[in-house]
Amino acid sequence: MPKAERECDGCQECCFLFGISKYESDPWTDCPHQCEGGCDVYEDRPKECRKYLCHWVTVDDDPYFDEDMRPDKTGLVFVTGDYKLQRIWLCFESRPAASVTSPGKELIEKLREKYLVKICMYNNVAKLVQLTSMNL
Ligand code: SF4
Ligand code: SF4
Repeated sequence: MPKAERECDGCQECCFLFGISKYESDPWTDCPHQCEGGCDVYEDRPKECRKYLCHWVTVDDDPYFDEDMRPDKTGLVFVTGDYKLQRIWLCFESRPAASVTSPGKELIEKLREKYLVKICMYNNVAKLVQLTSMNL
């Protein structure tokens, strides 16, 4: 399992994006425990929060994912892993149209030169469920 190599700092995109079953929060909705400092139940946060790390926070030397690509700056949350013997990227829009506007659009184009990239558009709950069930 990847480890965090960076601090989330001010980013809270995954807290907003995925929905937390314990708190019955919907996807693309603020989690009730988001606060200015991050998470007001951080020490007791649910298992699904503990195991979730986006790609950006797990790397500090990937030239495609520099500081400007932090999810709250791009509106895109990337996850990568192996699926059926090939490397695949999942890209979740946390903000509307983020995958078709800069800088995310250019990054997706670069990744697509080498990899399969699957995109979940903003508010597409069925796609979100489908892609997260891949358990990358
Ligand atoms: S999207 Fe990534 S950087 Fe942002 S809060 Fe979640 S894990 Fe941290
Ligand atoms: S419980 Fe905390 S870490 Fe989990 S989604 Fe809510 S604010 Fe984020």
